[in-house]
Amino acid sequence: MVQKSLKKPFSFQGIGIHSGQFVQVTCLPASANTGIVFRRLDLAGKEVAVNPKSLKLADRCTQLHWDGVDIFTPEHLLAACAGLDIDNMVIEIDHAEVPIMDGSALAFSMGFLEAGIQDLSASVTPLVITKPILVQDGDRYVMALPSPVSYFSYVLSYPDTFIGSQTVTTSTSQFLSDIAPARTYGFEAEIQALLDRGLAQGGCLDNAVVIGKTGYLSELRFPDELARHKTLDLMGDLWVLGRPILGHVIGVKSGHALNARFVKELEKAPRLKSRLV
Ligand SMILES: [Zn+2]
Repeated sequence: MVQKSLKKPFSFQGIGIHSGQFVQVTCLPASANTGIVFRRLDLAGKEVAVNPKSLKLADRCTQLHWDGVDIFTPEHLLAACAGLDIDNMVIEIDHAEVPIMDGSALAFSMGFLEAGIQDLSASVTPLVITKPILVQDGDRYVMALPSPVSYFSYVLSYPDTFIGSQTVTTSTSQFLSDIAPARTYGFEAEIQALLDRGLAQGGCLDNAVVIGKTGYLSELRFPDELARHKTLDLMGDLWVLGRPILGHVIGVKSGHALNARFVKELEKAPRLKSRLV
């Protein structure tokens, strides 16, 4: 597979869902083997490379940390990179938190397509899953199984609510239509607790599906939008590996912390052989 980057810069601005801060971002084309790198313009251009070493085991959002510098909530932007196979990009940002936009990966995906995506003169080696691999935390799992085609599945379960269970299976070829528009979500009952912890300061009905006791307080884009969004998160979190996975990745009730553990497991698993495809 050939490495890819943008043809020209793509700029956007918005509010961080946790910080509530207004943030300016510019995604720049980058040469082959750069990887995806965040550059904090508010910290004299200090950089955080997106890779398993910089990935932290945080729960509410994905967190990258390197040499005293943080990046929060990069997962939806990284999901757009995963969905469009973009390996190389420098992301200039003037705050620690990536803007939430509409809560999905749609604005990032559309922006990347508008900027154009170019093939670079270097290849990327997919991580080929040759044996099942699994991480577990109670009844939550992330696993990968051998498969000649890359698939992502997610099983969501809130058995004590009107939501029940939702299951989604997709591939990157369906990302733009089936996964990118799916928004993040939160339970109305938990929102006050998040606000009290200084989180969700920028959350509102425009950038998250809000779930009440007996029904959704937001209009849904898909009946199973929640499971689709968790698939989006899984794809974004796994893009931190810096290369695509050839296999079937399945998340069962997993969140960012377990996804991050899975990334670290994949990175160190000696039985996983890479080969050019
Ligand atoms: Zn998310």
